[in-house]
Amino acid sequence: MCPTLTEPPTGTRIPEDLMGSRLTEEQAAFAAALRDFAKRECGTREQRDALAGDGHEAHHPGLYGRLAELGWLGVCLPEEYGGSGGGLADACLFLEETSYGMVPCGGFITTVITAKAYERFGTERQRREVLTGAVCGDVLAIAMSEPGAGSDVGALRCRARREGDGTWVIDGQKTWISNAHCAKSILLVARTGEDKHGGLTMFHLPVGTAGVEVRGIDTMRGREVNDVFLTGVRLPADAVVGEVDGGWRQLMAGLNYERLFLAANMLGLARRAFDDTVAYVREREQFGRPVGSFQAMRHRIADLATEIECTRLLVREVALDCDARPDRLFPREASMAKLKATETAKRAALEGMQMMGGYGYTTEFEMERHLRAAVVSTVYGGTSEIQRDVIGRTYGL
Ligand SMILES: Cc1cc2nc3c(=O)[nH]c(=O)nc-3n(C[C@H](O)[C@H](O)[C@H](O)COP(=O)(O)OP(=O)(O)OC[C@H]3O[C@@H](n4cnc5c(N)ncnc54)[C@H](O)[C@@H]3O)c2cc1C
Repeated sequence: MCPTLTEPPTGTRIPEDLMGSRLTEEQAAFAAALRDFAKRECGTREQRDALAGDGHEAHHPGLYGRLAELGWLGVCLPEEYGGSGGGLADACLFLEETSYGMVPCGGFITTVITAKAYERFGTERQRREVLTGAVCGDVLAIAMSEPGAGSDVGALRCRARREGDGTWVIDGQKTWISNAHCAKSILLVARTGEDKHGGLTMFHLPVGTAGVEVRGIDTMRGREVNDVFLTGVRLPADAVVGEVDGGWRQLMAGLNYERLFLAANMLGLARRAFDDTVAYVREREQFGRPVGSFQAMRHRIADLATEIECTRLLVREVALDCDARPDRLFPREASMAKLKATETAKRAALEGMQMMGGYGYTTEFEMERHLRAAVVSTVYGGTSEIQRDVIGRTYGL
């Protein structure tokens, strides 16, 4: 018999079961509220299909607005801009639970990564506009990558020239820009000097600015990334975010956030793929018994469960460490969390598909959605090869 999954399964333990001693009461209540929301809004396959266009739309503006009304989009933004003043661990909880619950709020991740850069380096006027907007549901994007500058971001060529009156004129192309199609503004990294890393600057770029063209890129996941073409784009002198030529240092300062947010998102997906798999192999019978009861399957489930628990401990621990020492960079630990969580999510979805047999490959089940979402997570935000490189270098290699 082939089971039909309509309700989110209940196999993985909820976070506080495992980490109760390190989650505050507020954090445990927040996670529970997020799970309730996900169950109510996205608990059935019909709801998820309606919201996410058969899994091809990662972001639903209406639902995102509801999250804003609940005050959750400002989870780790300062209270003076309408946020809740929480930390990285709180934002990781949000990402883990919404990813587990398949809530189509894909705009959040680039928004929160970008907002944290404005929080640290923006002027008061920029912070007020951008952070307040993010709390209320504006989506933000960040544009570093170019056709010729992927892993080697410092090779980017998009050029910003300053005119006599201080106006910046920008020409170039950005690629792979997540959520630019639904973003209010883009944090653009452009070349302002010849030094590879010391010649980069961040700019606040409203999407509607003349000379900006956003064009979608077709991917196996659907609508998520874009090319952004910049032709004679004119920005005022005060569009600079932080210091002129200080862009690289500013990017490096945000790596804890970026890597941990991506890790938490994939941790949620790994848990979901695992639970969907367990629910299936418990019910699917061959040779007169559930396929999950064969030792070969049981051991794979056990291995996967162990991997996911290790990932959860690592992500949670590094997030709490970062919150405890906000002045410090944790390049090794943040890279480990990103590497481990993304590779685990990919493995969970691939293993899930294998353990579900042919049904895992069909669109009748959601394992193929999990796989499409997980498979690229080891590429964006620094590939697994680059994360390993970063980790290796911290050992002086
Ligand atoms: C879905 C998606 C969303 C994205 N979102 C954004 C975004 O919002 N903003 C943005 O700016 N960018 C974004 N990116 C770009 C992303 O960060 C890059 O794709 C990534 O950094 C890799 O660059 P690349 O694709 O050009 O691959 P390349 O750099 O060309 O790498 C190709 C292969 O070579 C390997 N490689 C490269 N250098 C080394 C090395 N030194 N050692 C070992 N192996 C190496 C890589 O690991 C990879 O396997 C996104 C990409 C994707 C696919």
